[in-house]
Amino acid sequence: MAATPAWPPRSTPRLFVDRPLAPGPLALDGPPAHYLLQVMRAKPGDPVRLFDDRTGEWLATVAETAKRALTLDVGAQLAPREAVPDLWLCAAPLKKGRSDWLAEKACELGVGRLVPVVTRRTVVDQPNTDRLRAHLIEAAEQCGRTALPQLAAPVKLTALLRDWAVAGNGSDRALFFADEQGGAPAFETMRARPGPAAVLIGPEGGFDDAERAAIRALPQAVGVSLGPRILRADTAAAAAVSMWMAAVGDWR
Ligand code: SAH
Repeated sequence: MAATPAWPPRSTPRLFVDRPLAPGPLALDGPPAHYLLQVMRAKPGDPVRLFDDRTGEWLATVAETAKRALTLDVGAQLAPREAVPDLWLCAAPLKKGRSDWLAEKACELGVGRLVPVVTRRTVVDQPNTDRLRAHLIEAAEQCGRTALPQLAAPVKLTALLRDWAVAGNGSDRALFFADEQGGAPAFETMRARPGPAAVLIGPEGGFDDAERAAIRALPQAVGVSLGPRILRADTAAAAAVSMWMAAVGDWR
């Protein structure tokens, strides 16, 4: 059936598929098949919405099911791939549950790129990027994004700052540095600087003095305050991203 305002129904499963989509048959196995067959109890004829982070979103219909695999018939395109706001979230990896939360919220709130930044007080040795990616995908499926946030390889703060100055690597990108020790009010400051941006959030223990000085020495860095209370890093990230979206992003 073709896409209409009433079709597909709101309850239609929505899945990310990591290969280019086009009209025609599509075989699925592994976790996506498990989700459709075991969790959603998909039957032949059921609609499924698919997006691939490349071509946009498509309406498909379950054609055939087996025990652990199924074939879909990809039909009409529902939407082109969206334009993603040009905001990076540069954030120190947090303990498991909080990093999961942060990835989910970053995706829902519209972040274009998530950059795990390792700082002196980062407590997590090696951020689990597979796990972060899985949370980004799940959030994108749920919130209706047709483009995934990019997930950058973890980078040390010193390298991040060094690269920032190099042409072609974010040189005109503002770095809004959330500083719990004080800065300009975030909303007004962001509103005055539209264009490519990033927000930088420290780990649970904050940045140390040397790091704070190195960040402030970067010409593109702008220290911003998120109010008089000390926020947890995950709260600070969600607050700063929301503020940017409202000030100059796609919430306007
Ligand atoms: N150093 C603090 C905790 C850091 S909070 C302490 O233990 O006392 C973690 C991160 O959240 C900070 O590095 C900062 O980037 C951000 N943050 C928290 N509260 C903030 C605020 N009121 N304004 C700006 N950034 C804040």
